[in-house]
Amino acid sequence: MIITFYGVRGSTPAPGPTTVKYGGNTSCVHVKLKNGRHLILDAGTGMRQLGKELLAIPDPINILLSHGHWDHIQGYPFFAPIYQPDRQINVYTSVEAGDRLLCSLFDQMDGNNFPVKVEDLPSNNNCTYKGTESELYEKQIYVVKKPLNHPGGGSAYKITEDGVSCAYVTDNELEPPYKMNTS
Ligand SMILES: [Zn+2]
Repeated sequence: MIITFYGVRGSTPAPGPTTVKYGGNTSCVHVKLKNGRHLILDAGTGMRQLGKELLAIPDPINILLSHGHWDHIQGYPFFAPIYQPDRQINVYTSVEAGDRLLCSLFDQMDGNNFPVKVEDLPSNNNCTYKGTESELYEKQIYVVKKPLNHPGGGSAYKITEDGVSCAYVTDNELEPPYKMNTS
């Protein structure tokens, strides 16, 4: 499993001399599994650079979205593979937030907030918010999803391959000022 961080900032992109070391982009992490599958964790502005690198790799793209806040979705309209004809892009997101979260990823491409409408994309964009783990299991991608404590809800993910696991737990609040999700 090879993990590459393309964006690690929260709230808003933060370019400048004080953020050179880890970069100024918002959340986006690429996981390449030994079996050749690609996973992308979140669609923040770091996704723009990752998209350029995935243009030449025809494999289906699997995106796990933690939640729908701006710093986790704003790279999607600038992700070059979405403009590739028939490129297969699967987005997996939270059961807890349901359709509303799916809309936050795609509705930003509505012609008002972004000039290109999602329905005009030549790629094959598919969204799933129920059955994430079982759908990925069929692709030999082993993921466990757990709810986050975060306004609006969200999901953490654990990815396992050959006895090695990595966990992506972003924006989780350990002592939130509201009823904790303990499941
Ligand atoms: Zn958030």
